[in-house]
Order: sequence, then C-alpha cells, then structure tokens
Amino acid sequence: MKLYSTNNPSSSVSFQEAVFNSMPQDKGLYMPVSIPRLPDSFFEQLPNYTLPQLAFEVAKHLLGDTIPQNDLKALIEDAVNFEAPAVELEEDVYVLELFHGPSLAFKDFGARFMSRVMSYFLREGEKQLDVLVATSGDTGGAVALGFLGVPNTRVTILYPKGKVSDIQELQLTTNGQNIRALTIDGTFDDCQALVKQAFVDDELNAALRLTSANSINIARLIPQTFYYFNAYAQLLREGKTNVAFCVPSGNFGNIGAGLLAWKMGLPVKQFIAATNANDTVPAFFKTGIYEPKPSVQTLSNAMDVGNPSNWARIADLFKDDAEALKSLMVSYSYTDAQTTEAIQQVFDKYKYVVCPHTAIAWKALTEWQAQHAGVSGVFLSTAHPCKFPNVFPADIAAAIEVPSQVEELERREKQAVSLDKDFDGFKAFLLGNK
Ligand SMILES: *Cc1c(COP(=O)(O)O)cnc(C)c1O
Repeated sequence: MKLYSTNNPSSSVSFQEAVFNSMPQDKGLYMPVSIPRLPDSFFEQLPNYTLPQLAFEVAKHLLGDTIPQNDLKALIEDAVNFEAPAVELEEDVYVLELFHGPSLAFKDFGARFMSRVMSYFLREGEKQLDVLVATSGDTGGAVALGFLGVPNTRVTILYPKGKVSDIQELQLTTNGQNIRALTIDGTFDDCQALVKQAFVDDELNAALRLTSANSINIARLIPQTFYYFNAYAQLLREGKTNVAFCVPSGNFGNIGAGLLAWKMGLPVKQFIAATNANDTVPAFFKTGIYEPKPSVQTLSNAMDVGNPSNWARIADLFKDDAEALKSLMVSYSYTDAQTTEAIQQVFDKYKYVVCPHTAIAWKALTEWQAQHAGVSGVFLSTAHPCKFPNVFPADIAAAIEVPSQVEELERREKQAVSLDKDFDGFKAFLLGNK
C-alpha cells in the first residue's frame, strides 16, 4: 500500500511511514494511492462473515502485501475483539452501538488498530516508542486503553487538571503498566502546546522516539471502515438492502471512513452527517462555500470542531466528482436544546438512552427519513451514555446501565503526576523518567 499527501499527490510513502509520521510535512493528509473495489465474491459472502473476518478481508485488500496475511489476521483478531451490534429500535431504524470497546466509545476501533500496527512495525531492539497525547477527555482514554500492554510502547497522557469528567479521569489514570498520566495545571490548549513543543525539541528527540498517535493517522481511519461493512452485513441478514447511515460528526473521520467503505464498493444509499452548532459542513452543503470557523462549546463536546481535520480527505475522495458527493451525502446541524429534546424523545419512544452525540444522529436520521420512505436507517452511537452523566434528567440517568468495567474502574486508585504548564518541567519529567 502506498499513500500520497492530499497537498502533493505526486509523492508517495509506504504505509509504515504514513503511520509513524501521522501527518505529511506539507500538512496535508495521507490517502491511499489506490482504493480497490472489493471483489463480488466478498459481497456475496458478506452476510456470513463475523466482524473480525470481514475486517481481515477489507484490510487485506486495502493494505495489499504490506503486512503478511497471517500477521494481519492475528493483529485484527487482537484489535477488534468486541462487538458492534446494529440494534433495531423499530422497523427500519437501527442504532449501531460502537461503544462496546474498553473506553466505551467508537474511537477504540481506531486506537486499538493503530497501536497494534505501530507495535508490529517496531523492529526488535529498537527504541521504545513514546506516544505523547494531550486530551480534553475522550481521545486520551481510547489511546491509553488502545496501547495498554502493547509491547515496546509507552503512553504519556497530558490532561487539564479538574477539567475532565470523573469517568474520563479514571480511564486516564488507573491503567498502570505502560501508561502514565500527567495532570497539568492549565487548559487543554496548554497540554497541547506542551506536546507540540516536545516534538520539535532536539534534546528530547535525541533521547526518545516520540510519536503523536494523532487522530488523523491513517491507521485510525482504516479500521473504522470495518463497522460499516459489518452493520450492512447485519441488515442484509434481515433482508434489508437499501441502507442509509447517519453519523454524528466533529472531525469527520468517522463519516470519512464510511465514504471510504462506499468507495470500496459498499452500496450505501445515503450518508447523513449530523453536527451540533459547529456547522461548517452543513453550511457548505447549503451555500457551496467551505468556511472553517472557531469552534463553539456544546453539550456534544466531542464534536465541537469548527475546522474538521478530515474534510480534506473527503474532498480528496470526491475531487473528480463534486456532484457525486452532493448526491451521496447530506448534512444537518442541531442546537443544544434540540439535543436535549432528542435524548428525551428517544427515551420516551424506545426506553433507550443515547449520549448527546448519538442523539443528534438520531434526530438527523428522523428528519431525513421523513422525506425518504422505504430506506433502512442506521444511526451510529459513538459513545456509551454513562460517560456523560451530567446531561441527563434524573429518570433517564437512572435508566442507564453502567457497564461492569466502569464499576471496576471506580475501585481503582487514580495515579497522576501533577505538573504546571511550563515546558521545562515537562521536559525534565520526560528526560528523568525514561
Ligand atoms: C470523536 C467523537 C465524535 C466525532 O467523530 P469524528 O470522527 O471526529 O467526526 C462523535 N462522538 C463521540 C462520542 C466522539 O468521541
């Protein structure tokens, strides 16, 4: 597999290089030089595959001979070791539960696959890989748990003191092994600034092999295609062939993976991108002008993105055919008041609790289906509601089933090193704790 930069399609790098660089020097994003259509035999078999089986088939086609097949199979079985059920709420309305991984959010798919790919590519005897992540909550948990126990890697997470939720803090600070947490007296931006400065510090780069495990890493995008194929397979088993996916979107990596699956031949009828008040993409579909703006804070804070980093990938996928994008994808945006209302409506209608991100996707699917009868709709549930205890009224909060792994977390001791936000202290910590 070769990849080019969206800013410079004439140069290309190996998959391994793209994984360790995360982002090309020219600040574009890596995209596969060729996106093969999966063979007819794959689609004929689709209803019969388990999630790891079809994940292997998809990855094999995309990666080519980059990783030998036996190794790839083992890697995928280790990475994709939890379910992604499409649960029917009523005729032609399904919720795709992507929160059954260790951090209870869909980012586990990307983080677990990427960590194992990185570990695979590390040569024996090579310096341990030091992953630095700044987090405002969710990404850090997925990355930490994704790398937990992965040989020859170590993760240092920086999070702003007092500014992450209780469950998030437990996920960040109770791992031990190769994961350590630093709680920074500052904001998320301060954490991010420390990480960025570390990457350009000569002394640190000489002493440590640093990587960012960034959210735009191509190794996080690829595994997100798996659950689209898997959801489609589940609907096929029920005789449904006319399928729309509705995706709660922030950086547009999730829906970008869906479009990649479509490019590989998955016959999806419609993609619906649902956003909160950060409506750069819905505005683009309305006006034809793509105009990134500063993000605004909402209840669905994992989608508070004014300049979606994966948009460049979507634009690149459809660079030769903007009209195809406009017919394949629509986009809606909702306020916090509509989000809260949607949570209530889903609960009243189905006795089902959705997190605020998922609620927005349900709302958008409902709006779209009102105009399009006879299409089965799947809305993606990106996180377990127990991660956002403060957004629910008491009766809905009481109906949330807290997974056993969270109860187990609550019994563990939090361990984090406190640092202030100056770079020298952070650098001294990294050099002093190699
Ligand atoms: C990251 C995240 C999103 C947004 O996904 P993108 O790939 O950035 O569009 C939505 N919901 C939750 C819970 C998330 O953590």
